[in-house]
Formats: sequence, C-alpha cells, structure tokens
Amino acid sequence: GSAHVLVVGGGWGGATAARYLRLFSGNRLQVTLVEPEPALVSCPHSNLVLAGHRTLADLTFGYEGLERLGVRRVRDRVTSLDFDKREARLASGDSLRWDKLILSPGVELMRERIDGLPAAHAAGRVLQAWKAGPETQALRAQLQAMPDGGVFVLTIPEAPFRCPPGPYERACLVADYFKREKPKSKVLVFDANPEPVSKAALFKRVWAERYAGIVEYRPSHRAVAVSADGREVEFELGERERGDVLNVLPDMRAGDIAAHSGLAKANGRWCEVDFLDFSAKALPKEAGVHLLGDAVLSAPLMPKSAHMANAHAKVAAAAVVASLSGWDLNPAPVLTNTCYSWVDGMQAMHVASVHGWDAAQRTFTVVPGGSGVSVGASEEEGHYAVGWLKAMRQDALA
Ligand code: FAD
Repeated sequence: GSAHVLVVGGGWGGATAARYLRLFSGNRLQVTLVEPEPALVSCPHSNLVLAGHRTLADLTFGYEGLERLGVRRVRDRVTSLDFDKREARLASGDSLRWDKLILSPGVELMRERIDGLPAAHAAGRVLQAWKAGPETQALRAQLQAMPDGGVFVLTIPEAPFRCPPGPYERACLVADYFKREKPKSKVLVFDANPEPVSKAALFKRVWAERYAGIVEYRPSHRAVAVSADGREVEFELGERERGDVLNVLPDMRAGDIAAHSGLAKANGRWCEVDFLDFSAKALPKEAGVHLLGDAVLSAPLMPKSAHMANAHAKVAAAAVVASLSGWDLNPAPVLTNTCYSWVDGMQAMHVASVHGWDAAQRTFTVVPGGSGVSVGASEEEGHYAVGWLKAMRQDALA
C-alpha cells in the first residue's frame, strides 16, 4: 500500500500538516491524525470570550473537512513513541505504525515552577486559560463574579512563550470589559520581561489613552508563588500583590509527548529542528520524525503563533511528500506571520513579518524591510482580523 504519515496533535500545526499532506500528494498518502479533543478550539480570538464579544462555540471548528479529504481521524492521545519500531502507543492501548511522523503537540504549562500554583489551579482558584476551552469560560465566570472595584492581576513569564502579544491583548480586553461593566475595577499587569514582548509602543499607548486608570503595567516582575487562597501573588524580589482574580501564566515548554520522548534537547523545554524540513535534530534524519509549531525552538526569530505553526506545517508536509515520492525539492521556503491583537470588541492592530530561508544560518530570518506594525488600532483592522481567522480555519481544516 501507499506510505503512511502519522500526525500527532490536531491543533493549528497538526491540522494544517494533515491537510497539506493529502493535497501535496494528490491524495496518495495515507494520513492519520491523532487528537483527543472532538474539535479544534481556537486560541486566536479567545481573549474576546473573556470580554463577552465571542462565545467558545464561535471558536470551535470541527474536523469534518479533513475527513472529507480522506484524513483518518483517531480520537485518542499518544502516550509513548518507539522510534526504532516506528510505532505510537495510544491511551486506549492501541498502537499505530508510521513511515513518517509529524508531531505538533503545542505547549505544556510549567505550573510547578510557581509555588502554590499547581494546588491553586487544581482547586480552580488560579487559572491560566492559555489553551482555549473550559478554562477560558471559567476565567470569564471569575471576571463576571468579581465585584466592581475589584482587581484583576495578570502575570507574564519570560519570553519565549505561546503567543507573544497574547497577554497584552488579554489586558486590553479585560480592561474593555471593566470599562463597560465594572468601571471602578483595575487590571494590574506584572511582566517578567523588561517591556511588552510584542507591539510594546502600541500596547502602552492603548493603555495610556483608552484604559487610563484601569490598566497599570509593571515590567521586570517575575511571579514565584501564589497563596493557598489564590488571592495573592509573590514576586522574585519579595513584593506581594493581592487581587480578586489572579491569572498567573507560568513558563512554558514543548508538549509532553515531545519532551518526554527526548526530543526537547534545548534546556529540556523546546525541540530543535532542521528548519528546511522540520525534522527532529535529536534523531537521525532517516528516523523520519518532524516537529512543528509552538513545541519548536524557534524564538526569537519566529513567534509561537498559529500563523507560524500553519507555515511550518506546509514546509514540513512538502518535505515529507517529496521524500516519500523520491522528488528532489531543493526548496527555499518563505514564511509569513501576522498577529492581530484586539484592543476592544471592534478594533485591532497587527504585527506582520516575512521570513526568508537563510542558507548560511539554516533558519528563517526576517527579510530586509519585511516587517511592520500598525499605526494604531482601528475597526478596519478588526475586519482584517476576522478575515485572518476565517482564512486560517479554511487553510487548516477546509
Ligand atoms: P496547538 O494548536 O495547541 O495544538 C496542539 C494539539 O495537540 C492540541 O489539540 C492537543 O490536544 C494535541 N496534543 C497534545 N499532546 C497530544 C498527544 N500526546 N496525543 C495527541 N494529541 C496531542 N496565534 C496567532 O497566530 N494569532 C493569534 O491571534 C493568536 N492569539 C492567541 C491568543 C491566546 C490567548 C493564546 C493562548 C494563543 C494565541 N495564539 C495566536 C497562538 C496559537 O494559539 C498557537 O501558537 C498555536 O495554537 C500553535 O499551534 P500548535 O499546533 O503548535 O499547538
């Protein structure tokens, strides 16, 4: 029979890879997608849910398009990988063999790095909502239950983390909700970084102009502990801050299946790849194991975004199809990225970049003149942001 490619993770990277493996091979390759969730719930635009501008249902996208294209979907979780036998074991006890393997498992949150956070999270008191789904809804409920005059405390880990502009967008949208519904309330942002990791000048202007008296930004504050009642956070230098709702984002690393399989060689956190085909550097190339998306050691040159995961997926899919077909590709890929950030329910702003293949450095670097940011937030860009998500959904799942 024809070769079999196993894709692990049906998020933005994995779904795109599965689709393009079928498209690039003229539907010849057998493609199996293993994903425990029944649908993809989009992190992009999930901060709008916190402010009441979207529902999770608006952001839940099914896999029917991929199934129509002939992708076999297995609703399960991969628990271990045997690179010699080329076999994945699943939580159900089944196993799946592969000729080529593509992993796009996303991130794991390192809650254990902040004292008290694992317990406060398990008790439902301090949430992250950094994977869109039930926690997004639960954080929305905490904000709704908060009295007017309450304090929302958001802490941000050192870069790199999933979605560089994401926390700052969240600060804007929670402020938007407070301004409309609970105007005496405050958003306190404590950032482990010396300034916002993305669109710093734009976000600072939005906070100063639109959300003056609501958002306070404090750089160079690294959270190290939360109290048992989930109401107080402690920082590296001993300062403490109390809040009514705490949203403590810990350090992040590659998803367990990649990290626990010895693929995360870079500080045990992120996976190194050969960017020309996204093959895992921890294994010989003949192993046929590829990694995509947030799990890859790509920052600071490439942001951990859905758009980037989508771009990685197409390069990897092309390389896998070429290798299994005996084609000589000799590629020089070009990747693009755009991250829109909402500042309220209607207006957004963006950062965009074009990344060319740099043969000397064997990575993708921003081409000269190939990046830019908005002049400021606008409704026009809000329309573009809506169009961006539509296009992304189509490209990954149609
Ligand atoms: P994911 O999309 O997380 O997919 C990983 C999948 O793997 C999951 O479905 C998971 O269930 C599955 N999985 C994990 N382990 C296993 C296993 N062992 N077996 C089987 N399946 C497994 N990006 C943008 O481009 N634009 C935005 O506007 C934007 N906004 C964001 C806002 C927020 C609040 C957040 C948190 C993120 C945002 N992002 C945005 C970032 C974007 O969500 C991620 O970069 C993107 O999801 C990365 O894709 P991925 O495939 O690496 O991981």
